[in-house]
Amino acid sequence: MATIFSKIIAGEIPSYKVAEDENYYAFLDINPLAKGHTLVVPKKEVDYIFDLDDETLAGMNVFAKGVAHKIRSYSGCKKVAMVVLGLEVPHAHIHLIPMNSEKDVDFGAEKLKLSPEEFAQIAQAISEAK
Ligand code: 5GP
Repeated sequence: MATIFSKIIAGEIPSYKVAEDENYYAFLDINPLAKGHTLVVPKKEVDYIFDLDDETLAGMNVFAKGVAHKIRSYSGCKKVAMVVLGLEVPHAHIHLIPMNSEKDVDFGAEKLKLSPEEFAQIAQAISEAK
């Protein structure tokens, strides 16, 4: 059965898209730690990131780099944290999280509650950022 992220990539489940190319897809995490918290996933459905073939793993990092530049430009944060963590969705993903302090990357912290309009505005702003 396709993962929820494969359904998002296929457009069967809506998402707030930030960037896409032929191999990768980036979209806002629905339970964000910060405005701009983004997930980068390969279109190829593989559960564990270190089971990806070398080319896909390397390309995913390069794709994430471009998205991180956009997130930083949008948010004005000091840096963008890149985190691989989680067991919930069996589809490899990188979390990109705007960060001004290490405390901003606490997965035990309460998540932000954003309206659909806010999510849409953030996704558009990041996708248009340089
Ligand atoms: P993890 O496997 O990293 O624990 O969890 C997957 C991440 O994907 C979580 O941060 C969760 O909020 C996010 N997530 C799970 N389901 C969806 C969804 O349907 N849409 C979006 N945008 N994010 C999701």
